[in-house]
Order: sequence, then C-alpha cells, then structure tokens
Amino acid sequence: MKKTVLVTGAAKGIGRAIAEVFAENEFNVVINYLSSEKSAQSLVSELKERGFSALALSADITQKAQVEKMFEQAYQAFGSIDILVNNAGISHYKLFQEITEDEWDKMINVHLKGMYNCSQQVVPEMIRKNTGKIINISSIWGMVGASCEVSYSTAKAGMIGFTKALAKELGPSNIQVNCVAPGVIDTDMLNPLSQEDRELVREEIPLMRFGQAKEIAKVVLFLAKQESDYITGQVISPNGGLVI
Ligand code: NAD
Repeated sequence: MKKTVLVTGAAKGIGRAIAEVFAENEFNVVINYLSSEKSAQSLVSELKERGFSALALSADITQKAQVEKMFEQAYQAFGSIDILVNNAGISHYKLFQEITEDEWDKMINVHLKGMYNCSQQVVPEMIRKNTGKIINISSIWGMVGASCEVSYSTAKAGMIGFTKALAKELGPSNIQVNCVAPGVIDTDMLNPLSQEDRELVREEIPLMRFGQAKEIAKVVLFLAKQESDYITGQVISPNGGLVI
C-alpha cells in the first residue's frame, strides 16, 4: 500500500522539493501551507498531472486547533500518515539585543511549538501501528550557532534536542526520529543577503556552492525509507563541507 507523507511549509523552497521527490517515489503527499495557497494548489495540480497523489491543506502550525483540523482532513483523505516532515520555518538576521519579545516568541513557536503540535498528531497512531518516521529540518546553525541569528540558532538547536529525546522514547515502538540539518541552501530564505554577502558565504563552503533544495529532499527521502530503519536520533547535515 502507498505510504503518506505530510510536509509542513511545503508551498516553496525545501518543503516543495521534499513534496516533489516523495511524490516521484510513490508516496501520497500532503502539502501544508500557511498563506501561499496559489503555489500550494499549483504544486498539487502539477503533481496530479504527472499521475501522482497530492493534497494541499492550510494551517498555521503554531495554532493547535488549525493543526488538528489539518490532520483530521489528511487522515480522512489517505487513512494514515506514515511520515511527518517538520520543515516549516522562518529566519531573521538581527543583533541579539535588538530582537523583540514578539520576534523571539514567533521564532520559538514556529519551530518548536509547530513541531510539537504536528508530532503529537501522528505519534499515537504510529505507536499503535508500531511503525513511522518523523524527520525534522534543523540547520547547521542549530549545531554550531550563527552570529546575528541567536533566536534561529536557539530554535534549531531545540529541534535537535527534541529529535534525540523523542527518538529514545519512541525507539521501542519502532518509530525513527531524525534531523536533517542543511547548510546554506538556495531558497527564498537567503533573500535578505546582499549579493556581496552571498559571495562571501559561498567562498566559505568547501564545495564552493550553495546546496539545492532537491539535494536536501533526497536525504529526507532516504530517512523515510526502509533502508534507513536502523538510523534514529541522528543529525545528518548536507552542508557542502561548511561544518565538518
Ligand atoms: P522558505 O522560506 O522558502 O520556506 C519556509 C516555508 O515555511 C514557507 O513556505 C513558509 O510559509 C512556511 N511557514 C513559515 N511559518 C509557518 C507556519 N507558522 N505554519 C506553516 N508554514 C509556515 O525557506 P526554506 O529555505 O525552504 O526553509 C525550509 C526549512 O529549512 C526551514 O525550517 C529552514 O529553517 C530550514 N533551513 C533552510 C536553510 C536554507 O539555507 N535555506 C538552511 C538550513 C535549514
């Protein structure tokens, strides 16, 4: 039977690439989006035209009631969620002392509360079935910290802590929980960088280029497949050698 994946924040960027790669590999794909309804629906049409199975559902992942409704609709459509990819995220660049309380709360809520809300919707069913995979998209900045990104680094490090603890708790239920921590990937998230800054960052990367969203998606796919069943609680970092 076809497996189903739900990817948060999948209307564009890395989430969109994950949705495409999973659809191409015979998964039913649930595309969560916040406000980009047009791009989410056009991705669904594109995938359906290619003969794949996809559904777009809106929810602000920080809002429990919206998340519950989204999962109810997803379960109704496909019967089960076998893989959850907690991908949705935001970033901002600011000196620590200039981060407002609202900005801090939003950063923590999108990454940590969002991951908590969505994971709680799938874990009971995964335990009942004694199988399932949760893949969290962290960042190299959650591993090593980034100047002017203290809130982002804090949230992304939190995702790594969550992954390790939940992996231990759910291991006996045959559920794998892992993190993918990308380096610098060419998506809209890099828009705030000037051309000059982009070039400076690129020169720091041993492979001398930014990663592509699809390269992250393929790592996520590996972690969703049976081949990786003995991997849990790990942080896999496709980063072009930026963090070694
Ligand atoms: P992106 O901005 O293109 O995509 C992020 C998506 O998350 C957007 O579609 C956005 O609408 C969605 N989102 C934000 N808040 C949401 C909410 N409350 N509810 C639902 N959806 C929400 O960025 P991206 O580069 O594709 O980032 C995807 C993930 O990868 C993020 O978690 C990001 O932190 C992580 N990441 C990105 C990079 C990079 O260099 N691009 C590097 C490491 C990690």
